[in-house]
Amino acid sequence: MNPNRERRKINKVRKKISRGRVINQDILKISVFFCVLAAALIVYLCVFLTFESGSIINNTYNKRSESFKKVIERGSIYSSDGTPIAYSENRDGVEVRIYPYGNIFAQVVGYETNGALGLEASYNYYLLTSHTNMFEKIANEFKGQKNPGDSIHTSLDRDLQMYISDLLEGQKASAICIDPTTGQIKATVSKPDFDPNDIQYIWDDIISDEENSPLVNRATQGSYTPGSTFKIFTLLEYMREHPDYDNYYYNCEGVLEGDGYTMSCIDQTAHGGETLEDAFAWSCNLAFADIGLKLDIDQFIASNSNLLFNRDLNVDIASNKAIFSLQKTDSDFMKMQTAFGQGKTLTNPLHLSLVMCAFANEGVLMRPHYVTKITSPSGSVVKTFKDKEEERLCTSSEADAMNRYLRSVVTEGTAFCMAYEDYTAYGKTGTAETKSDKEQNIDLSFFVGFAEKDGQKLVICVNIEDTTRTWMSAVDFAHEIFNYYFY
Ligand SMILES: [Zn+2]
Repeated sequence: MNPNRERRKINKVRKKISRGRVINQDILKISVFFCVLAAALIVYLCVFLTFESGSIINNTYNKRSESFKKVIERGSIYSSDGTPIAYSENRDGVEVRIYPYGNIFAQVVGYETNGALGLEASYNYYLLTSHTNMFEKIANEFKGQKNPGDSIHTSLDRDLQMYISDLLEGQKASAICIDPTTGQIKATVSKPDFDPNDIQYIWDDIISDEENSPLVNRATQGSYTPGSTFKIFTLLEYMREHPDYDNYYYNCEGVLEGDGYTMSCIDQTAHGGETLEDAFAWSCNLAFADIGLKLDIDQFIASNSNLLFNRDLNVDIASNKAIFSLQKTDSDFMKMQTAFGQGKTLTNPLHLSLVMCAFANEGVLMRPHYVTKITSPSGSVVKTFKDKEEERLCTSSEADAMNRYLRSVVTEGTAFCMAYEDYTAYGKTGTAETKSDKEQNIDLSFFVGFAEKDGQKLVICVNIEDTTRTWMSAVDFAHEIFNYYFY
């Protein structure tokens, strides 16, 4: 063969090969581009499904949520013993939501029409998600039926909730019970309440009932003057700033006249000479007013922030912040008032009981929660919400010291009614003047504390908004609840 022809042929082949390489490289670039795009899409979908879809679908006003309702029958909500406390039923082709216990779980379980409330609101996404198996989904598709939604299982103790609901009937009041060793919330009652089965018919009445506000969960969304329960915070701060706190001494004469003000203990009782423990057990306002002037206000503000004031309470239901707004520049009068629980401070039973949970658990607050797990329609576990440590609110030695004082309130102070029970109770009472008219003072009554027996512990906070309605104060109601729970 002619060598030139041979060379031309070889060059032709080389050109073809290199053109092929170019083409191959282009294909490679395009493939890489699509791979990156696909990966980005997968990452986005994972992020969306993990973090964002829940909150978007959870918004009950969202149209997406409405479209989920068309294809999924809302899952059930169970109490801790596996009893359904909310479920859906198909009646003549219409899905009806049933609350078999009527008003008993009103605000905590809530409702899902006219907006939503309670667990129905915060777990909307899970209740409208279906992990039913593929075959059933296909069968339902053919039959034109909705897929059953997943169910949520709560720590709510049905019997305890029913007992408290009955006990507080007729009051403007609330109570919350938490196991401090797990953070599981066992009961949450708020009165007056409503029957969520009738929500569509009673809606106009209950939203216009400003005096009773039945839709408000007083235990988690209330804002109350803490009264003497605030002495817990003042006491802890005084202990932190004054290691010699055991040497504190005050002589209470019942009334204190100051520059343009008069302060007094309840019923102007003169408590006489008292130690710090006496002052706490007897709930002496004047001793705590005195202590208020001995505190470093900046440090007090920082401590109270650590004790969950001015912060979102991390719980799986709507709640209000507790507010502590004392400033260094405030008057001595304001500092004194604040120290014994009047002033501008605001709290609610959830906040007080979370702080009490830490004292009952060596200073550690466990994550407060209602929901323990999510299950599919066939009963298999889709997600578990494990008990876990939320944060440390105080050292274990501070918790020990605090418990000594909380115990003295029961053995020699204002919670003496619990002194001779088979369980060991700790706590603090409180009364706050909320408003006064010419006829009467309307008082608010609080109890926050815990009791233990055979290794079991229960934290309770009770508040009674208008004590003129009852001869019992919050401590008496809490006493009844402890008796029911431990006997
Ligand atoms: Zn006093």
